[in-house]
Amino acid sequence: MRTTRLPYVTFHEDPAEAETVSHRLMLRGGYVRKVAGGLYDFLPFGARVLRRVERIVREEMDRAGAFEILMPALQPAEMWEKTGRWEKYGKELFRLTDRHDRSFALGPTHEEVVTELASGLLNSYRQLPVTLYQIQTKFRDEMRPRFGLMRGREFVMKDAYSFARSKEEGAECYRIMQEAYFRIFARLGLSVRMVEADTGNIGGYSSHEFMVLAPSGEDTVVFCGSCRYASNVELAGAATHCPLCQAPLERTTAIEVGHVFDLGDRYSAPMEAGFLDPDGRETLFHMGCYGIGVSRLLAAAIEQSHDDAGIIWPTAMAPFAVAVLPLGGRDAELSEKALRIAGLLEERFPEEVLVDDRDLRAGVKFADADLCGFPIQVILGEKGLRENRAEIKVRSSGERNTVDLSALSEWIA
Ligand code: ATP
Ligand code: MG
Ligand code: MG
Ligand code: MG
Repeated sequence: MRTTRLPYVTFHEDPAEAETVSHRLMLRGGYVRKVAGGLYDFLPFGARVLRRVERIVREEMDRAGAFEILMPALQPAEMWEKTGRWEKYGKELFRLTDRHDRSFALGPTHEEVVTELASGLLNSYRQLPVTLYQIQTKFRDEMRPRFGLMRGREFVMKDAYSFARSKEEGAECYRIMQEAYFRIFARLGLSVRMVEADTGNIGGYSSHEFMVLAPSGEDTVVFCGSCRYASNVELAGAATHCPLCQAPLERTTAIEVGHVFDLGDRYSAPMEAGFLDPDGRETLFHMGCYGIGVSRLLAAAIEQSHDDAGIIWPTAMAPFAVAVLPLGGRDAELSEKALRIAGLLEERFPEEVLVDDRDLRAGVKFADADLCGFPIQVILGEKGLRENRAEIKVRSSGERNTVDLSALSEWIA
């Protein structure tokens, strides 16, 4: 991909409204643009990162045996009345009426819709357990939409729901999802901590959150230095000592990127959703639900990985893994050579190479590549090109190496 063919627009001034590093860098790097409070356009780089995160989430959900579905964002109020959440959810629920005066919600989550679906679809114990998931836009009328993608009013979530025959089988579904979550975050290059959490608006019996530790996080977690205990303070209250081993607790701020719930019959009971057991008895589903803030992950990753110059993407999330910076000036022969080298790299690493062919000073290209956070920069300067050498800069360490052109691909791989 050539930068001259896409709207590669960066800003070197800090946008006034951005309070967090990730918000600032995503606006400056041309990843997103604000439409209104809590509503953002994803520009080409932002959309690519989003798709990459989605792909990894999808692969790991599939690997864990979950099935992808897609439910409507628009949900009839009757379903929410059955579970009592039409009242209980409060102002965060976007409500609207259609031309016939029927009430609807714009889905902030999908327990009601998916429970109704399962109740029609899964009738026998032989079909269970089943986990269904979707990656979809959610709507929440947040009291304080802020920090860019961190707290939007419209955002992308992966939500999964498990339907099991018993509490024990439900616990197994829950464990499989927890494992999938650890794999997802590891593949994304994020360091996360799992903590015990409050069940909040979703309800159910117990839950765990997946937290990216960061100063800008809106949650506070406590964890024990001596044992494995870790909890959101929403649950631990004001505890200062570990309830398991009495050691003093450490306290830090964190960003919630995922949340898993053991729902039991919280939804299957009011919606009378169940299956026939081997003796032909009506039995309620034991359910679980599992969310990942897909768009929030972009912000969380940047909060965890950046420096003064800009974003430092983990390779799996970067819009392009490699930025080629031809600096051959106006020499036509050298420019052509640079593009040829870039073309070879594109063949070797499809979808991963961005060529900055803009007619700009080297300093601007360097600054933009650092700002946007491409993991590897291949610098093709005039002297190097004449001597068949390239300079490679690793964004995360700042390390630079001069490499023979014939060894370039191997070095990058
Ligand atoms: P928070 O405590 O931050 O408000 P939540 O507990 O209300 O989040 P859940 O209902 O658990 O959120 O939703 C699952 C995931 O969706 C969260 O773990 C989070 O990563 C993401 N998420 C929730 N609200 C937003 C939002 N307004 N903007 C972006 N992502 C969000
Ligand atoms: Mg919330
Ligand atoms: Mg929360
Ligand atoms: Mg939550």
